[in-house]
Amino acid sequence: MLIQIEGLKPRAAPRLPEWLRKPQRNVEADHDLKRMLRTRGLHTVCEEARCPNRNDCFARGAATFMILGDTCSRSCGFCSVKTGRGLPMESLTDEPEQVAEAAALLDLRYVVITSVNRDELPDGGAAHFAKTISAVRRRLPRSRIEVLTPDFKGNREALRTVLDARPDTFNHNVETVPRLYGRVRPQADYRQSLEVLLNARLHSAEVLTKSGFMVGLGERPGEVESLLEDLRAHSVDVVTIGQYLQPTRAHLPVEEYVYPDLFERYKEYGERLGFRAVFSGPLVRSSYMAEMVHGEAKSN
Ligand code: SF4
Repeated sequence: MLIQIEGLKPRAAPRLPEWLRKPQRNVEADHDLKRMLRTRGLHTVCEEARCPNRNDCFARGAATFMILGDTCSRSCGFCSVKTGRGLPMESLTDEPEQVAEAAALLDLRYVVITSVNRDELPDGGAAHFAKTISAVRRRLPRSRIEVLTPDFKGNREALRTVLDARPDTFNHNVETVPRLYGRVRPQADYRQSLEVLLNARLHSAEVLTKSGFMVGLGERPGEVESLLEDLRAHSVDVVTIGQYLQPTRAHLPVEEYVYPDLFERYKEYGERLGFRAVFSGPLVRSSYMAEMVHGEAKSN
């Protein structure tokens, strides 16, 4: 298949290497979970982002709930979530309880809550995040909760609202190296995202802070190492590094399928910088094995 990028000579799309080919199994469990979620009007980022690990996670009873509807106010070049005007908040009043009920039905020990961006809302949806954390906490007092949030446009009050609900892990993805922000995250700001992570740390010594990014979008290894240094300088505890996969031809092309040994090099570099846990591998995603990330992080 030829890729045609404006102003660039058409070139063949790189073939999916064997280390990224993952057999889809447990389709039955997949369908049951989807049915259960649909009847409650719930969405998972697993499905919206076509995550290659969803069968595994569903089979393990792990899922990442996407709140605040399925329409985002932004249009990141790598993301298959639809862009447009978000659902009215009145139609989402029951969502926190619905998420809590679904998590209880799945008997989840580790619940990940993420969302689309709702830049049009005064608090970016922060109060809705807090309500969802509290609802899950009431239903599953012994389970751990991770939130993967937007940048709330740097609004510290909004951030405080989420953290006052006491999630166990606060995650905000930087997604890529600063040089590529224009193509990959045009509505976001690299420095602002680092500030969000540092402010989360300053807000609570208890919460585990976490960030993640993709590789294979044209970044250079030196840029990845500088990014890891920046995250450590902003007191981030856990980092995830995974391979970018093109969701559709309308999204950014894969510039490179990064070899597993380079992921290993990034992992070693991150551990030398002092991260409590570095998860780096072709199929690693920000919520993949999130319970491990948390468990692992606490032990070492
Ligand atoms: S802000 Fe998040 S949900 Fe919205 S387009 Fe970007 S990655 Fe996708």
